[in-house]
Amino acid sequence: MLIVMKPSASEADVARVCEWIRERGYTPQPMPGAQRTAIGLVGNDRRIDGASLEDMPGVAEVIYVSSPYKQVSREWKPETTMVTIAPGVVFGGHEVPVIAGPCSVENEVQIMAAARAVQAAGAVALRGGAFKPRSSPYSFQGLGRQGLELLALAKRETGLAIVTEAMDDEGAHLVAEYADCLQIGARNMQNYSLLKTVGKIGKPVLLKRGMAATIQDLLLSAEYILAEGNTQVILCERGLRSFDSASRNLFDLTAIPIVQQLSHLPIVADPSHGTGRRDRVLPMARAAIAAGADGVIIEVHPEPTKAMSDGAQSQTPDQFAETMRQLRRVADAIGRSISGSSA
Ligand code: PEP
Ligand code: MN
Repeated sequence: MLIVMKPSASEADVARVCEWIRERGYTPQPMPGAQRTAIGLVGNDRRIDGASLEDMPGVAEVIYVSSPYKQVSREWKPETTMVTIAPGVVFGGHEVPVIAGPCSVENEVQIMAAARAVQAAGAVALRGGAFKPRSSPYSFQGLGRQGLELLALAKRETGLAIVTEAMDDEGAHLVAEYADCLQIGARNMQNYSLLKTVGKIGKPVLLKRGMAATIQDLLLSAEYILAEGNTQVILCERGLRSFDSASRNLFDLTAIPIVQQLSHLPIVADPSHGTGRRDRVLPMARAAIAAGADGVIIEVHPEPTKAMSDGAQSQTPDQFAETMRQLRRVADAIGRSISGSSA
């Protein structure tokens, strides 16, 4: 339930409504906006009498949020949420940030070469997994803490923001010491304990859509994070399992406008996992920007053929530089711009 106050409502009016809610055993969430304040109330709405709220001074209207996710919905918050992961790296605004880097952090030479290359091309954040959720237990699992130390080094040297994955509750606290944004991978989208943990940690989260998750599943997973008080969530479309083996995944571009209609959270696209092959990343990255994505995340490796994970879909530094050039033109064509990129 959302109680929308009149633009003329006083602080005392807002306080009175909050007190009324508290007396009934709920926690009010006042959300001051540019025009008016709204007060959110999550829980069992049936015990709340909306009509008596509507009669209180300063109340404009009472909205029953109809979707199963509440705080994530556009009904709850009409304006798009801007998620700032580092100074100047903002998702959800006019500018479109690009996150790039290898699938996994492998060693110092590799991550530093990747960081310098993506920065030179205009990326504003570095990706790279230190904890890797691999389909096989015998595949490279990531360098763990050492990988995080290497990301910290890359950040010190380049100033790039760091986006890296947390796979479990304990790891999330460790990753949060290094990351500007914690990635929750497709395989963990419905790890509700992990979602609550990153909700409590409070740092920005990049939540990837599960490979067989509906858009509603994705939004309900995001709701777990917001329900803990963390509104800094960036959603990510990364492709779905399909019947067609012609591509690794079916990259669901439609999810971008659908999510933007249903939710105020920004959504970025991952054309690397979405396609699985480096020659398909550029056209689908262009398409993602054209479809209105609030960011893209692209795998780039200094020597993709030697990559310890996802080499086939990793762009070379030259391919990534060309991708950035083209993405600037597409962004320009739709009246947006790629963040911080002048290269
Ligand atoms: C990744 O970003 O390298 C990754 C493992 O992605 P996903 O969780 O989308 O498979
Ligand atoms: Mn990967």
